[in-house]
Amino acid sequence: MPTATDHLVERCREVVEDLSLGEVRRWKQEHPQAAAIGYFPVYAPAELIHAAGMLPVGLNGAGDRLDLQHADARFGSFICSIIKTTLEMGLTGRLAPLDGVLFTGICDSARNLAFVCERNFPQQSIEFLHLPQNPASSASAGFLKGEYQRLAGRLEQLGGRKIDDRGLQAAIALYNENRALLRALYAQRAAQPHQMRTLDLYLVMRAGNFVPVETHNAWLREALAELASPAAKPRDSLRIVIEGSFCEQPPLDLIRLIEDAGCYILDDDFLLGRRWFSEDVPVNGDPLGALAESYLDRSVYSSVRHDFRHRRHLLLVEKARRLGAQAVLFLIAKFCEPAYFDYVLFKRELEAAAIPHLLLEFEEKAFTFDRLRTEIETFVESLLFD
Ligand code: SF4
Repeated sequence: MPTATDHLVERCREVVEDLSLGEVRRWKQEHPQAAAIGYFPVYAPAELIHAAGMLPVGLNGAGDRLDLQHADARFGSFICSIIKTTLEMGLTGRLAPLDGVLFTGICDSARNLAFVCERNFPQQSIEFLHLPQNPASSASAGFLKGEYQRLAGRLEQLGGRKIDDRGLQAAIALYNENRALLRALYAQRAAQPHQMRTLDLYLVMRAGNFVPVETHNAWLREALAELASPAAKPRDSLRIVIEGSFCEQPPLDLIRLIEDAGCYILDDDFLLGRRWFSEDVPVNGDPLGALAESYLDRSVYSSVRHDFRHRRHLLLVEKARRLGAQAVLFLIAKFCEPAYFDYVLFKRELEAAAIPHLLLEFEEKAFTFDRLRTEIETFVESLLFD
């Protein structure tokens, strides 16, 4: 008999797999005067969109459920899938409920996609936010605050509503709660990985891309109370950390396969844009400044955010050790240059720390995983039964 958790996970799966953005269309019917703004990974200040009275909509590609018929003509072959499937969604009308889309300069491909969208979708407001490249510079916080101010001005123009400090503080508090709930779920899974399936956690997290943060917070509270199955028995499994999926997302079946092949996933960087801040953004009298400073000082590392004050390759080693992971699985999107550049350095640090690792490459549209299954099973067996 299906439990309340089964219903929640199934509901979230329906939301995630609906490429026509049904939840967003419903929200717009209920709020006919309000706009919905999509945002491409990894980092986007959803708080600003919310404070403008709009619905922030996270875009993470289309998985394996969309054939590319038009987007290939706009990009060369050697480009990651999320770029093409996001564009295909736009070219086939699936992004029509969005009044605008926000991009940040995480990589050349994302930057180019912003301008291809601008040309192809003149009816939508395409915004591009510049993020500071040197967080150690004393000018960075002021620069980013200026960028947020500029974006806030564009949102105010589009929505016809002023973003005031109180509204922005309220939005920050709501997103702080959202991230705190996700951190709590991640901590719960890391402590008892046999009690919580990563695929369930992932679906509940990703569904938040399409619903108001207040609704998602309620779903996460329910998940925190119900998602773990205390009766589940531990089995022989390899305790791993996943690295490299911070932007394009692996197919759902691949996440399931990793668990079924004998891995307990203690931590991952899936959907990092939903969990960018490692602690609460201060709710104070300068909310734009607080968001800017938090990007510089409270955000987790990734291959598209460079911070020379903290060596992210060592941070991965520290994370693996802190969680008691036996290995690291690099799960990297095909043609994701930032992740591959970093892999070389991560590999060197892991080898120095004697932490085993495996590199797997995926594409959104992959649906057979026989070779990957064999590789993971062999890796698990070689470490568990050595
Ligand atoms: S998957 Fe990698 S290359 Fe593709 S848009 Fe994201 S960061 Fe850029």
